[in-house]
Amino acid sequence: MKLNSKLPKVGTTIFSVMSKLANECGAINLSQGFPGFPVDSKITAFVDKFMKEGYNQYAPMPGVPVLREQIAKKTNLLYNYLPNTETEICVTSGATEALFAAITAVVQPGDEVIIFEPAYDSYIPAIELCGGIVVPIELKYPNYNIDWNEVEDKVSEKTRLIITNTPHNPTGAVWASSDIDSLKNIVRNTNIVVISDEVYEHITFDETPHQSVILDEELLERSMVISSFGKTFHTTGWKIGYCVAKPALMNEFKKVHQFLTFSSSTPFQYAIAEYMKDESNYLHLPSFFQQKRDFFREHLKNTKLEILPCKGTYFQLASYKNISDESDIDFAKRITKEYGVASIPVSVFYNSQRDDKVLRFCFAKQSAELSKACENLSKL
Ligand code: PMP
Ligand code: GLN
Repeated sequence: MKLNSKLPKVGTTIFSVMSKLANECGAINLSQGFPGFPVDSKITAFVDKFMKEGYNQYAPMPGVPVLREQIAKKTNLLYNYLPNTETEICVTSGATEALFAAITAVVQPGDEVIIFEPAYDSYIPAIELCGGIVVPIELKYPNYNIDWNEVEDKVSEKTRLIITNTPHNPTGAVWASSDIDSLKNIVRNTNIVVISDEVYEHITFDETPHQSVILDEELLERSMVISSFGKTFHTTGWKIGYCVAKPALMNEFKKVHQFLTFSSSTPFQYAIAEYMKDESNYLHLPSFFQQKRDFFREHLKNTKLEILPCKGTYFQLASYKNISDESDIDFAKRITKEYGVASIPVSVFYNSQRDDKVLRFCFAKQSAELSKACENLSKL
Protein backbone atom coordinates (compact mmCIF):
# COMPACT_ATOMS: atom_id res chain seq x y z
CA MET A 1 0.00 0.00 0.00
CA LYS A 2 1.31 3.44 -0.87
CA LEU A 3 0.80 5.84 2.01
CA ASN A 4 0.84 9.51 1.11
CA SER A 5 1.82 11.21 4.39
CA LYS A 6 -0.07 14.37 5.24
CA LEU A 7 2.88 15.44 7.40
CA PRO A 8 5.93 14.19 5.47
CA LYS A 9 8.43 16.40 7.33
CA VAL A 10 7.18 15.59 10.81
CA GLY A 11 9.04 13.14 13.04
CA THR A 12 8.66 12.38 16.75
CA THR A 13 8.49 15.59 18.81
CA ILE A 14 11.73 16.72 20.44
CA PHE A 15 10.00 16.51 23.85
CA SER A 16 9.54 12.76 23.50
CA VAL A 17 13.02 12.30 22.00
CA MET A 18 14.87 14.15 24.77
CA SER A 19 12.80 12.75 27.65
CA LYS A 20 13.40 9.22 26.35
CA LEU A 21 17.13 9.87 26.07
CA ALA A 22 17.19 11.36 29.57
CA ASN A 23 15.47 8.26 30.96
CA GLU A 24 17.81 5.90 29.10
CA CYS A 25 20.88 7.75 30.39
CA GLY A 26 19.56 8.37 33.89
CA ALA A 27 20.11 12.09 33.19
CA ILE A 28 18.46 14.99 35.02
CA ASN A 29 15.59 15.87 32.72
CA LEU A 30 15.43 19.63 32.18
CA SER A 31 14.19 19.08 28.61
CA GLN A 32 10.41 18.51 28.38
CA GLY A 33 8.53 21.19 30.29
CA PHE A 34 6.81 19.56 33.24
CA PRO A 35 7.06 20.27 36.95
CA GLY A 36 9.33 17.97 38.92
CA PHE A 37 7.64 18.53 42.28
CA PRO A 38 4.47 17.11 43.83
CA VAL A 39 1.01 18.41 43.03
CA ASP A 40 -0.81 20.03 45.99
CA SER A 41 -2.51 17.18 47.89
CA LYS A 42 -5.65 19.35 48.20
CA ILE A 43 -6.32 19.13 44.48
CA THR A 44 -5.58 15.39 44.22
CA ALA A 45 -7.94 14.84 47.19
CA PHE A 46 -10.65 16.66 45.22
CA VAL A 47 -10.12 14.29 42.26
CA ASP A 48 -10.49 11.34 44.61
CA LYS A 49 -13.62 12.85 46.15
CA PHE A 50 -15.32 13.55 42.83
CA MET A 51 -14.44 10.14 41.39
CA LYS A 52 -15.83 8.41 44.49
CA GLU A 53 -18.95 10.55 44.36
CA GLY A 54 -19.62 9.23 40.84
CA TYR A 55 -18.52 12.07 38.57
CA ASN A 56 -17.11 9.64 36.04
CA GLN A 57 -19.25 9.99 32.93
CA TYR A 58 -19.02 12.38 29.98
CA ALA A 59 -18.76 16.02 30.90
CA PRO A 60 -20.93 18.48 28.95
CA MET A 61 -19.29 19.26 25.60
CA PRO A 62 -18.01 22.77 26.55
CA GLY A 63 -16.93 21.72 30.06
CA VAL A 64 -18.64 21.33 33.43
CA PRO A 65 -20.55 24.51 34.39
CA VAL A 66 -18.74 24.97 37.72
CA LEU A 67 -15.38 25.04 35.95
CA ARG A 68 -16.60 27.49 33.33
CA GLU A 69 -17.82 29.71 36.19
CA GLN A 70 -14.40 29.61 37.85
CA ILE A 71 -12.65 30.38 34.55
CA ALA A 72 -14.98 33.37 34.07
CA LYS A 73 -14.28 34.55 37.63
CA LYS A 74 -10.52 34.26 37.16
CA THR A 75 -10.64 36.06 33.80
CA ASN A 76 -12.58 38.89 35.39
CA LEU A 77 -10.23 39.13 38.36
CA LEU A 78 -7.07 39.19 36.24
CA TYR A 79 -8.16 40.87 32.99
CA ASN A 80 -11.26 42.76 33.96
CA TYR A 81 -13.53 40.93 31.52
CA LEU A 82 -16.28 38.50 32.53
CA PRO A 83 -16.80 35.96 29.74
CA ASN A 84 -20.27 34.51 29.31
CA THR A 85 -20.07 30.93 30.64
CA GLU A 86 -22.53 29.62 28.04
CA THR A 87 -21.19 31.25 24.89
CA GLU A 88 -17.58 32.30 25.47
CA ILE A 89 -15.73 29.48 27.27
CA CYS A 90 -14.85 25.93 26.25
CA VAL A 91 -12.85 23.48 28.36
CA THR A 92 -10.47 21.32 26.32
CA SER A 93 -8.11 18.36 26.69
CA GLY A 94 -5.09 20.56 27.30
CA ALA A 95 -3.98 23.61 25.36
CA THR A 96 -2.76 21.31 22.59
CA GLU A 97 -6.32 20.33 21.78
CA ALA A 98 -7.48 23.94 22.09
CA LEU A 99 -4.79 25.09 19.65
CA PHE A 100 -5.70 22.37 17.17
CA ALA A 101 -9.42 23.13 17.42
CA ALA A 102 -8.83 26.89 17.08
CA ILE A 103 -6.54 26.53 14.07
CA THR A 104 -8.86 24.03 12.40
CA ALA A 105 -11.85 26.28 13.02
CA VAL A 106 -10.43 29.18 10.99
CA VAL A 107 -7.75 28.03 8.53
CA GLN A 108 -8.87 27.08 5.01
CA PRO A 109 -6.62 25.73 2.22
CA GLY A 110 -4.36 28.49 0.90
CA ASP A 111 -4.79 30.77 3.94
CA GLU A 112 -1.61 32.30 5.29
CA VAL A 113 -0.84 32.01 9.00
CA ILE A 114 1.80 34.17 10.66
CA ILE A 115 3.75 32.53 13.46
CA PHE A 116 6.73 33.76 15.45
CA GLU A 117 9.80 31.56 15.60
CA PRO A 118 11.15 29.89 17.64
CA ALA A 119 7.57 28.59 17.84
CA TYR A 120 5.93 25.93 19.97
CA ASP A 121 6.01 22.78 17.91
CA SER A 122 2.31 21.97 17.59
CA TYR A 123 1.37 25.07 15.57
CA ILE A 124 2.87 24.20 12.18
CA PRO A 125 1.52 20.65 11.82
CA ALA A 126 -1.99 21.84 12.69
CA ILE A 127 -1.79 24.67 10.14
CA GLU A 128 -0.47 22.33 7.44
CA LEU A 129 -3.14 19.70 8.07
CA CYS A 130 -5.69 22.43 7.26
CA GLY A 131 -3.88 23.29 4.01
CA GLY A 132 -2.69 26.59 5.46
CA ILE A 133 0.57 28.25 4.49
CA VAL A 134 2.96 29.02 7.34
CA VAL A 135 4.52 32.48 7.23
CA PRO A 136 7.27 32.43 9.87
CA ILE A 137 8.72 35.59 11.38
CA GLU A 138 11.89 35.24 13.41
CA LEU A 139 12.20 36.71 16.88
CA LYS A 140 15.68 38.14 17.08
CA TYR A 141 18.31 36.54 19.29
CA PRO A 142 19.06 37.33 22.14
CA ASN A 143 16.00 39.37 23.24
CA TYR A 144 13.46 37.64 21.03
CA ASN A 145 11.27 40.70 20.61
CA ILE A 146 8.79 41.04 17.74
CA ASP A 147 9.69 43.41 14.91
CA TRP A 148 6.17 44.70 14.19
CA ASN A 149 7.33 46.42 10.98
CA GLU A 150 8.23 43.01 9.66
CA VAL A 151 4.81 41.70 10.67
CA GLU A 152 3.17 44.57 8.81
CA ASP A 153 5.24 43.70 5.74
CA LYS A 154 4.30 40.03 5.90
CA VAL A 155 0.56 40.60 6.27
CA SER A 156 -1.16 40.04 2.92
CA GLU A 157 -4.65 39.66 1.49
CA LYS A 158 -4.32 35.97 2.28
CA THR A 159 -3.40 36.34 5.97
CA ARG A 160 -6.15 34.60 7.92
CA LEU A 161 -4.54 34.07 11.28
CA ILE A 162 -1.73 35.31 13.54
CA ILE A 163 -0.65 33.01 16.37
CA THR A 164 0.94 34.79 19.30
CA ASN A 165 2.44 33.39 22.50
CA THR A 166 3.26 35.40 25.59
CA PRO A 167 4.94 34.52 27.98
CA HIS A 168 6.87 32.82 25.26
CA ASN A 169 8.02 29.21 25.05
CA PRO A 170 10.94 28.57 24.49
CA THR A 171 12.51 32.03 24.93
CA GLY A 172 10.95 33.33 28.17
CA ALA A 173 10.20 36.67 26.45
CA VAL A 174 7.14 38.54 27.72
CA TRP A 175 5.12 41.15 25.85
CA ALA A 176 4.89 44.80 26.84
CA SER A 177 1.61 46.68 26.42
CA SER A 178 3.09 48.26 23.27
CA ASP A 179 3.04 44.79 21.65
CA ILE A 180 -0.72 44.62 22.19
CA ASP A 181 -1.08 48.06 20.58
CA SER A 182 1.08 47.10 17.60
CA LEU A 183 -0.88 43.90 16.99
CA LYS A 184 -4.16 45.78 17.30
CA ASN A 185 -3.10 48.40 14.77
CA ILE A 186 -2.02 45.76 12.27
CA VAL A 187 -5.20 43.69 12.38
CA ARG A 188 -7.66 46.61 12.54
CA ASN A 189 -10.05 46.57 9.52
CA THR A 190 -8.86 43.13 8.38
CA ASN A 191 -10.40 39.64 8.62
CA ILE A 192 -7.42 38.35 10.56
CA VAL A 193 -8.12 36.14 13.58
CA VAL A 194 -5.65 36.02 16.49
CA ILE A 195 -4.93 32.86 18.45
CA SER A 196 -3.24 33.96 21.65
CA ASP A 197 -1.42 31.12 23.39
CA GLU A 198 -1.30 32.26 27.02
CA VAL A 199 -0.58 28.98 28.78
CA TYR A 200 2.12 30.66 30.91
CA GLU A 201 -0.17 33.55 31.91
CA HIS A 202 0.65 33.06 35.61
CA ILE A 203 4.41 32.84 35.19
CA THR A 204 5.91 36.31 34.74
CA PHE A 205 8.74 37.77 36.78
CA ASP A 206 10.03 41.01 38.32
CA GLU A 207 6.48 42.43 38.59
CA THR A 208 6.09 42.28 34.78
CA PRO A 209 2.33 42.02 34.15
CA HIS A 210 1.05 39.43 31.70
CA GLN A 211 -0.36 41.17 28.61
CA SER A 212 -3.44 39.13 27.79
CA VAL A 213 -5.29 40.08 24.61
CA ILE A 214 -8.39 39.87 26.82
CA LEU A 215 -7.33 43.21 28.32
CA ASP A 216 -8.00 44.87 24.99
CA GLU A 217 -11.65 45.05 24.00
CA GLU A 218 -10.93 45.54 20.30
CA LEU A 219 -8.45 42.64 20.05
CA LEU A 220 -10.65 40.32 22.06
CA GLU A 221 -13.36 40.62 19.38
CA ARG A 222 -11.12 38.72 16.94
CA SER A 223 -9.16 36.48 19.32
CA MET A 224 -9.23 32.96 20.65
CA VAL A 225 -7.34 32.93 23.95
CA ILE A 226 -5.90 29.65 25.13
CA SER A 227 -4.66 28.55 28.54
CA SER A 228 -3.78 25.33 30.34
CA PHE A 229 -4.26 24.07 33.89
CA GLY A 230 -1.28 21.80 33.29
CA LYS A 231 0.94 24.87 33.67
CA THR A 232 -1.10 26.55 36.38
CA PHE A 233 -1.58 23.66 38.81
CA HIS A 234 1.52 21.57 37.95
CA THR A 235 -0.72 18.90 36.43
CA THR A 236 0.52 18.56 32.85
CA GLY A 237 -0.61 14.91 32.78
CA TRP A 238 -4.24 15.79 33.44
CA LYS A 239 -4.52 17.54 30.06
CA ILE A 240 -7.14 20.14 30.94
CA GLY A 241 -7.03 23.52 29.20
CA TYR A 242 -9.53 25.99 27.83
CA CYS A 243 -10.33 28.61 25.25
CA VAL A 244 -12.02 31.97 25.76
CA ALA A 245 -13.47 33.76 22.72
CA LYS A 246 -16.43 35.91 21.74
CA PRO A 247 -19.55 33.92 20.66
CA ALA A 248 -19.02 33.99 16.88
CA LEU A 249 -15.51 32.53 17.12
CA MET A 250 -16.38 30.27 20.05
CA ASN A 251 -19.24 28.82 18.04
CA GLU A 252 -16.82 27.76 15.29
CA PHE A 253 -14.32 26.53 17.89
CA LYS A 254 -16.92 24.27 19.52
CA LYS A 255 -17.93 22.78 16.17
CA VAL A 256 -14.42 21.33 15.93
CA HIS A 257 -13.96 20.54 19.63
CA GLN A 258 -17.15 18.46 19.76
CA PHE A 259 -15.79 16.08 17.13
CA LEU A 260 -12.17 16.17 18.22
CA THR A 261 -12.69 14.97 21.78
CA PHE A 262 -16.33 15.88 22.49
CA SER A 263 -15.46 16.68 26.10
CA SER A 264 -12.60 16.41 28.61
CA SER A 265 -12.04 14.37 31.75
CA THR A 266 -14.93 14.96 34.19
CA PRO A 267 -13.45 14.40 37.69
CA PHE A 268 -10.40 16.53 36.89
CA GLN A 269 -12.64 19.38 35.78
CA TYR A 270 -14.61 19.28 39.03
CA ALA A 271 -11.42 19.08 41.09
CA ILE A 272 -9.85 22.05 39.31
CA ALA A 273 -13.05 24.09 39.75
CA GLU A 274 -13.11 23.37 43.48
CA TYR A 275 -9.41 24.23 43.85
CA MET A 276 -9.80 27.50 41.94
CA LYS A 277 -12.24 28.80 44.54
CA ASP A 278 -9.12 29.75 46.52
CA GLU A 279 -7.48 32.33 44.28
CA SER A 280 -4.20 32.14 46.16
CA ASN A 281 -3.71 28.76 44.46
CA TYR A 282 -2.82 30.59 41.24
CA LEU A 283 -1.92 34.08 42.47
CA HIS A 284 1.20 32.79 44.26
CA LEU A 285 2.73 31.39 41.05
CA PRO A 286 4.88 34.35 39.91
CA SER A 287 6.81 34.45 43.19
CA PHE A 288 7.01 30.64 43.40
CA PHE A 289 8.58 30.36 39.94
CA GLN A 290 10.68 33.52 40.30
CA GLN A 291 12.49 31.86 43.22
CA LYS A 292 13.17 28.85 41.02
CA ARG A 293 14.37 31.02 38.14
CA ASP A 294 16.72 33.00 40.41
CA PHE A 295 18.05 29.85 42.05
CA PHE A 296 18.76 28.23 38.69
CA ARG A 297 20.37 31.34 37.17
CA GLU A 298 22.56 31.77 40.24
CA HIS A 299 23.82 28.19 39.92
CA LEU A 300 24.23 28.49 36.14
CA LYS A 301 26.76 31.25 36.80
CA ASN A 302 29.19 28.50 37.84
CA THR A 303 29.18 27.19 34.28
CA LYS A 304 30.59 28.55 31.03
CA LEU A 305 27.09 28.84 29.57
CA GLU A 306 25.92 32.33 28.69
CA ILE A 307 22.61 32.97 30.46
CA LEU A 308 19.98 34.75 28.35
CA PRO A 309 17.17 36.95 29.73
CA CYS A 310 14.11 35.21 31.23
CA LYS A 311 11.04 37.32 31.98
CA GLY A 312 8.46 34.56 32.14
CA THR A 313 7.62 30.83 31.66
CA TYR A 314 9.60 28.12 33.42
CA PHE A 315 12.25 27.94 30.72
CA GLN A 316 15.76 29.39 30.75
CA LEU A 317 17.76 29.75 27.56
CA ALA A 318 21.55 29.53 27.60
CA SER A 319 24.09 29.85 24.82
CA TYR A 320 26.99 27.40 24.61
CA LYS A 321 28.79 29.23 21.81
CA ASN A 322 31.86 29.72 24.06
CA ILE A 323 32.06 25.99 24.61
CA SER A 324 31.45 24.22 21.30
CA ASP A 325 30.50 24.75 17.69
CA GLU A 326 28.57 21.48 17.45
CA SER A 327 24.97 21.74 16.22
CA ASP A 328 22.58 22.35 19.09
CA ILE A 329 20.90 18.96 18.55
CA ASP A 330 24.22 17.09 18.74
CA PHE A 331 25.36 19.15 21.70
CA ALA A 332 22.09 18.62 23.62
CA LYS A 333 22.27 14.88 23.03
CA ARG A 334 25.94 14.70 23.97
CA ILE A 335 25.57 16.57 27.26
CA THR A 336 22.63 14.33 28.14
CA LYS A 337 24.82 11.27 27.66
CA GLU A 338 28.13 12.60 28.97
CA TYR A 339 27.12 15.15 31.60
CA GLY A 340 23.75 13.76 32.67
CA VAL A 341 21.64 16.85 31.91
CA ALA A 342 18.91 16.85 29.23
CA SER A 343 17.79 20.08 27.57
CA ILE A 344 15.98 21.11 24.38
CA PRO A 345 17.93 22.42 21.34
CA VAL A 346 16.19 25.60 20.21
CA SER A 347 16.75 25.06 16.45
CA VAL A 348 13.87 22.57 16.42
CA PHE A 349 11.45 25.46 16.95
CA TYR A 350 12.45 27.08 13.63
CA ASN A 351 11.21 26.16 10.16
CA SER A 352 14.69 27.15 8.94
CA GLN A 353 16.35 25.14 11.76
CA ARG A 354 18.28 28.31 12.59
CA ASP A 355 20.97 27.36 15.09
CA ASP A 356 22.17 30.12 17.44
CA LYS A 357 23.83 27.51 19.70
CA VAL A 358 21.15 27.91 22.33
CA LEU A 359 19.63 25.32 24.66
CA ARG A 360 16.40 25.50 26.67
CA PHE A 361 16.39 24.28 30.27
CA CYS A 362 13.17 23.75 32.29
CA PHE A 363 13.62 25.03 35.86
CA ALA A 364 10.25 23.82 37.22
CA LYS A 365 12.21 21.30 39.26
CA GLN A 366 13.29 20.68 42.86
CA SER A 367 16.27 22.75 44.03
CA ALA A 368 18.46 19.68 44.54
CA GLU A 369 17.91 18.64 40.93
CA LEU A 370 18.65 22.13 39.63
CA SER A 371 21.85 22.51 41.63
CA LYS A 372 23.07 19.03 40.67
CA ALA A 373 22.36 19.80 37.00
CA CYS A 374 24.43 23.01 37.24
CA GLU A 375 27.22 21.17 39.03
CA ASN A 376 27.34 18.71 36.11
CA LEU A 377 27.20 21.53 33.56
CA SER A 378 30.07 23.37 35.31
CA LYS A 379 32.33 20.56 34.08
CA LEU A 380 31.65 21.50 30.46
N1 PMP B 1 1.46 26.05 24.18
C1 PMP B 1 2.66 26.21 24.74
C2 PMP B 1 3.43 27.45 24.45
C3 PMP B 1 3.19 25.22 25.56
O1 PMP B 1 4.39 25.37 26.10
C4 PMP B 1 2.43 24.05 25.80
C5 PMP B 1 2.94 22.90 26.62
N2 PMP B 1 3.96 23.14 27.40
C6 PMP B 1 1.19 23.93 25.21
C7 PMP B 1 0.74 24.94 24.40
C8 PMP B 1 0.35 22.70 25.41
O2 PMP B 1 -0.26 22.67 26.65
P1 PMP B 1 -0.97 21.36 27.20
O3 PMP B 1 0.07 20.57 27.89
O4 PMP B 1 -2.03 21.89 28.13
O5 PMP B 1 -1.56 20.64 26.05
N1 GLN C 1 5.03 22.11 26.32
C1 GLN C 1 6.05 21.30 26.92
C2 GLN C 1 7.40 21.91 26.60
O1 GLN C 1 7.49 22.92 25.95
C3 GLN C 1 6.02 19.90 26.41
C4 GLN C 1 4.74 19.43 25.88
C5 GLN C 1 4.88 18.10 25.21
O2 GLN C 1 5.65 17.28 25.62
N2 GLN C 1 4.16 17.92 24.17
O3 GLN C 1 8.37 21.34 27.00
